[in-house]
Amino acid sequence: MNDRYGRTISYLRLSLTERCTLKCAYCRAGEGACPKKSELTREEFLRIVRVMVKLGVTKVRLTGGEPMLRRDLLEIVSGIRAVDGIEEITMTTNGQHLPGMSKELRRAGLDRLNISLDSLRPERYEALTGGGSLELVRTGIDEALEAGFSPVKLNAVLLRGTNDDEVDDFIALTKDKPVHVRFIEYMPLGAEDHANLRVTGDEILRARPALVPAEPMYEGQPARDFRLPGYTGSVGLINPVSHRFCDSCNRVRVMSDGMLRPCLGQNMEVSLKEALESGDDVILLETIRNAIWNKPKAHAFGEEFVSDKTMSRIGG
Ligand code: SAM
Repeated sequence: MNDRYGRTISYLRLSLTERCTLKCAYCRAGEGACPKKSELTREEFLRIVRVMVKLGVTKVRLTGGEPMLRRDLLEIVSGIRAVDGIEEITMTTNGQHLPGMSKELRRAGLDRLNISLDSLRPERYEALTGGGSLELVRTGIDEALEAGFSPVKLNAVLLRGTNDDEVDDFIALTKDKPVHVRFIEYMPLGAEDHANLRVTGDEILRARPALVPAEPMYEGQPARDFRLPGYTGSVGLINPVSHRFCDSCNRVRVMSDGMLRPCLGQNMEVSLKEALESGDDVILLETIRNAIWNKPKAHAFGEEFVSDKTMSRIGG
C-alpha cells in the first residue's frame, strides 16, 4: 500500500529479539546489559507477515538484537517462506552463530544474508564488539558463500579514528570474493549524536577515485554502488544522514515487543499487541494500515532528534 506521501511500502523488517551476543557501543549506545524482554511468538510474527502481505509487503528482513539467538529461527524462516506473496527473505546477523548454519538457513528458505563486520583485525574486532570472534564471522562468510548465498553483503559502520583506516582492506575483500561491502554511516540512535565520528560516503569516494559507479542491484535501493575495475565484488555506500533517501523509503519495522515503527529516525510507534491479542486479523490489518498511512515524511537525524530507542532494540 502507499503511505500518505505516495511511497509504496513493500519491505518489512522484523526484529526478532532485543538480545544480542555482542556489545557494540554505537548500537547499544550506553544501554549496558540487555535483559530478556518478552518477545512476540513465532505465530505472532507470522500473523503480522500474513497480514502485511495483504497490504503489499513482498520482502522481509529478519534482524535484532541478534536474530540467530532465536531458537525457532529456522521455523520462522520456513513459516515466512510458506506465506504466498513473499518474494524475498533476508537476514542481518553478526555472524557469531553462523558457522554450521548456512545450509540449514538456505533449506528453510532464506534468500540473502547481510553480515555485520566492523573490523578485519581480530583484536580490534574483539574490542569493538565487546568480545566477538573475528574467526567465527570469517568462517560464517565463507560458508555462506559456499551455501550459495549471493551476494553476501558485509555491513561495516565506520567510526572516525576507530576503524576508518580499514576502508581499503574492506575493499580488498571484493577482489576475489563475490561479496558486497557496504559502508554504513553511523546514525544517532541513542542519547547523543556523535556527529564527529561519522564518516561520509563522499569522503570515501574523494579519496578513492578508482571506484567506478556500478549498476544498482535493485531499483530504489538506498546504497550507491561502486566497484574497482576487474574486481569480483562491489562496494556500497549507505548514507542516511548525508544523502537521505526518505523520498524512496519503502520500509517499516516491527520490533520484538510488538511495536511497529514506521520510520527509523522518528520516535513514532504504534502498538500491535492489543490487535494481536484480539485474535482478529481485520483489527490487526487496520492498525497496520493506519500506521503505514501515517509514516513520517522524513527522518530527523541531524536535527534536534533524540531517539528513544537504540538500534539494538529497534533492529538495524
Ligand atoms: N545483530 C545483528 C548484526 O549485528 O548485524 C543485527 C542487528 S544490528 C542492529 C544491524 C546493523 O545495524 C548492524 O550492521 C549494525 O552495525 C548496524 N547499526 C547499529 N547501530 C547503528 C548506528 N547507530 N548507526 C548505523 N548503523 C548501526
